[in-house]
Amino acid sequence: MYDLSVIANSTEDQIYTEGFSRHYFNQFVSDKLDPNRTIPDVRHKLCKNRDYPVFKLPTVTVVICFLNEAFSALIRTIHSVINRTPSELLKEIIIIDDFSSFEDLKGHLGTHLKIKYYKKVILLRNPVRKGLIMSRIIGSRHATAEVLVFLDSHCEVNTGWIEPLLDRIVLNRKTVVAPIVDSVDAYTMVYDSVPVLVGGFKWNLFFRWDPIPVKIRKMLSDLSQPIKSPTISGGLFAIDKEYFKELGEYDPKLKIWGGENMEISFKVWQCGGKIEIVPCSRVGHIYRQVQPNNDKNDVNIKRNLLRVAHTWMDEYQQYVYDARPNLEGVEYGDITERVTLRNRLRCQSFSWYLKTIFPEQVRQFSDSHRFVHFTDIVQTRIGTYCSEGF
Ligand code: UDP
Ligand code: MN
Repeated sequence: MYDLSVIANSTEDQIYTEGFSRHYFNQFVSDKLDPNRTIPDVRHKLCKNRDYPVFKLPTVTVVICFLNEAFSALIRTIHSVINRTPSELLKEIIIIDDFSSFEDLKGHLGTHLKIKYYKKVILLRNPVRKGLIMSRIIGSRHATAEVLVFLDSHCEVNTGWIEPLLDRIVLNRKTVVAPIVDSVDAYTMVYDSVPVLVGGFKWNLFFRWDPIPVKIRKMLSDLSQPIKSPTISGGLFAIDKEYFKELGEYDPKLKIWGGENMEISFKVWQCGGKIEIVPCSRVGHIYRQVQPNNDKNDVNIKRNLLRVAHTWMDEYQQYVYDARPNLEGVEYGDITERVTLRNRLRCQSFSWYLKTIFPEQVRQFSDSHRFVHFTDIVQTRIGTYCSEGF
């Protein structure tokens, strides 16, 4: 595997460099991989013997939006879903092209999908760039299955990934579930397991992986059990389709990228649902060191975070301003509809959420020293892993 990364001559060096500058990961290696490659089954051993009768599980629509994704990474994502999801459960994969400009994502992609997966894969194209958030809403509205699964366009789902997620939704349709998001190395494309962590957030409203709180850890018989999580990383989760609608989807006025993970997390907990990380479900994601969509001065992100803070966080919105002074004075539009939704769903206060669901969260302006054994180098929507210290 590692020898695929070897650059033999100056032509290859140019291909490597250009690929990296386009995608911030090693497209040179990505292109060389078999789209059906085997990845290590990194599940806890107890997961492997668990039986989930397929007839008891709901069907799924997998929604993947993409913008100028590397063709090989997108195809590998789709292949992994087709290869590792029981066909009775997989109603369709909806992929939404968010107005990409790369040539291979135009005609060639459509033809490739038609030949390979006629009918199972539906390709929608936005006539203008609408962003990740609106694209996902569009995808969800086209879905015909009972459960929605959102994935990024550079993922690889692992063996038995879907059954344990669906099993939790069957038990309680208001449970929103996320897999463990394993690491696909941006340089080598090597798939590696990551430790079982839960979702938290920084007061600047960026997602953070946290260790399992001691109190919760003590209640778990082993690390294959689903674990309640205060937030979900934005990219990868499953939710009952009707429940997603009841929750008002994503706030449609959130623009492009960012903040939607916090919106759905707060909303689910505050309005009577719950979020769980399901360690028996593993999905690889290419974590990039550079986040093309994540700029702390991006006006859309700032606006999105303020919409979330003002709609869901009550008096704690001040913490967000304190943690991110550049939000001061930023216009965030009308949130009346979202506040009406919150009232209609009779949602709890943010202080209830903190006390009941996330008591570990403390007011902290610099989170960097909070957990000495966990260093987050670059904070992203999904979070970035660093190998050191786990
Ligand atoms: N994306 C999109 N339109 C955008 C921005 C992002 O369709 O305007 C897609 C992107 O191709 C990816 C997903 O949304 O499949 C999530 O974005 P990204 O991977 O950049 O988020 P991260 O993993 O860095 O948090
Ligand atoms: Mn991603």
